[in-house]
Amino acid sequence: MAAYEYETHDYDVVVVGAGGAGLRATLGMAEQGLRTACVTKVFPTRSHTVAAQGGIAASLSNMGPDNWQWHMYDTVKGSDWLGDTDAMEYLAREAPKAVYELEHYGVPFSRTEEGKIYQRPFGGHTTEFGEGPAVQRTCAAADRTGHAILHTLYGQSLKNNAEFYIEYFAIDLLMDDDGACTGVVCWKLDDGTMHVFNAKMVVLATGGYGRAYFSATSAHTCTGDGGGMVARAGLPLQDMEFVQFHPTGIYGAGCLITEGARGEGGYLTNSEGERFMERYAPQYKDLAPRDYVSRCMTMEIREGRGVGSGGDHIHLNLSHLPKEALNLRLPGISESARIFAGVDVTKEPIPVIPTVHYNMGGIPTNYWGEVLNPTAEDPNAVVPGLMAVGEAGCASVHGANRLGSNSLIDLVVFGRAAAIRAGKVVDRNAATRKVDAGKVDKVFDRFDGIRNANGSVPTADLRLEMQKTMQADAAVFRTAKTMAEGVEKMTAIAGKMDDLKVTDRSLVWNSDLMETLELTNLMPNAMATIVGAEARKESRGAHAHEDFQTRDDENWRVHTISRVEGAKVDLSYRPVVLDPLTAEADGGIELKRIAPKARTF
Ligand SMILES: Cc1cc2nc3c(=O)[nH]c(=O)nc-3n(C[C@H](O)[C@H](O)[C@H](O)COP(=O)(O)OP(=O)(O)OC[C@H]3O[C@@H](n4cnc5c(N)ncnc54)[C@H](O)[C@@H]3O)c2cc1C
Repeated sequence: MAAYEYETHDYDVVVVGAGGAGLRATLGMAEQGLRTACVTKVFPTRSHTVAAQGGIAASLSNMGPDNWQWHMYDTVKGSDWLGDTDAMEYLAREAPKAVYELEHYGVPFSRTEEGKIYQRPFGGHTTEFGEGPAVQRTCAAADRTGHAILHTLYGQSLKNNAEFYIEYFAIDLLMDDDGACTGVVCWKLDDGTMHVFNAKMVVLATGGYGRAYFSATSAHTCTGDGGGMVARAGLPLQDMEFVQFHPTGIYGAGCLITEGARGEGGYLTNSEGERFMERYAPQYKDLAPRDYVSRCMTMEIREGRGVGSGGDHIHLNLSHLPKEALNLRLPGISESARIFAGVDVTKEPIPVIPTVHYNMGGIPTNYWGEVLNPTAEDPNAVVPGLMAVGEAGCASVHGANRLGSNSLIDLVVFGRAAAIRAGKVVDRNAATRKVDAGKVDKVFDRFDGIRNANGSVPTADLRLEMQKTMQADAAVFRTAKTMAEGVEKMTAIAGKMDDLKVTDRSLVWNSDLMETLELTNLMPNAMATIVGAEARKESRGAHAHEDFQTRDDENWRVHTISRVEGAKVDLSYRPVVLDPLTAEADGGIELKRIAPKARTF
């Protein structure tokens, strides 16, 4: 048995993650006098939330008529009718309150002439239950909304005496024999010490797993650590096959080039210099919906018309646009193209590839953030002592497809909801539970095995193999054949986890070891994604299945529940929550308004 000494910490609540979701939860817990620790592997304001630009959705009606019922309807439609109705109602109803709270905490929102919070239009946000014109619902702090929110929430959390454990890497959850979570084991990256946090409530706010793919707009730290920990604790993941792709990430670097580049007249070409979107979408051409453009690009690459020496990407052309227009309207992306692709957009095309942008799936929760462990008898059974919020969680408000600016609002609404709930269910006077030392040792045994892994495959090689396979086979464009091949390849790749080689055995700033631990988290997320995708015989939202091109509500309006063990994924299904929280008489939404219908653009 591996012997590691450790320090023990006792808290009411431990939040793992300091992005928008983790910080909003931490602040809410601390405000109520719960003894709260926030553990994070990167400095709080370096979490991926800092990169969010566009804004945060809430029906404030500052720039024209709007109401939460319309926001809820758009979210239901955006989810392609896979989201849970109660959670989507909660999101839309609580959004204005959550944004005003942010304003009062000090988020420097942009302002209208009258001094109200400025709101801009975003895709899929409409009025009159999808029948009216577009609405300006997305609250923005210039193009730095995530940055502004993160800095404000960190300051407020400190003010309320939350305690931060920065550059601590959470390795695994501690689960008691009765199925309750009692804490988390962490490795302090800068001095190699080990720490056991006992807590009455553990909140996972670890973000998405974009890095399971070759090209992702998300930070390199988005490795699905929460999902990995949950899978190892014998708990399931939900709806993992739904992965949002943005058509224009910079090839290799993954940085986002906004859709505005095509809005300003940019267009895509293949290796023959052909504007291929004219062939696929004669009416909308390069401005067809995101999922469709991404699919067309992938088809061109698959059919041998990709650009570059590997024939594996596409060109985005802007050089025909007047220089003044580029300077005025697209200065940010001109700079990104120069720094990350070495391209002068006034002279050359930008190499782009459909790029993973967001994970709709995650750890299943109810709308209070409580983690679910569905059983045949109770599809909504709660795991005591464990919550999940933000991109790591799946409440589920995004269902099969997320609307732009609905993630930032998800972070703060459900971070706040988790705090409200914890304020009710955590007994401040009770002692923390301690699991027996054997369970802590088991975590260290796994850690030690990885630290001393002496097989033949370097972590970076296996990670790249996984990323390329996921990019090719769990892609935008999915066929029964590519997904079956993907499952086979990924099963073999996951099988090689036992043959990993770690070269650095130290405990201080050991990035080789940290990246290997992250790979052990990426892998179960990736396996659940490809296996769930292969099994779903319909097209819905981001899951576009070429052999089953329509949505099948009769058989498939269900959440995929996946339990992952090594290279094995066990699938079952959980019913979608169909009832809203509030009756129409109480200001709720008419059920027939949100009955499923074809999603047209
Ligand atoms: C480029 C980009 C632009 C975007 N723009 C928008 C936008 O305009 N509007 C919008 O609504 N959405 C946007 N999104 C989506 C949105 O920003 C993300 O979904 C959201 O920020 C995720 O927040 P989070 O709090 O869940 O996780 P993150 O912000 O990713 O934070 C995760 C936290 O978990 C910690 N962590 C992870 N693993 C461990 C571990 N093992 N141990 C300890 N700590 C750990 C990390 O240190 C970090 O603090 C954008 C996303 C990207 C990538």
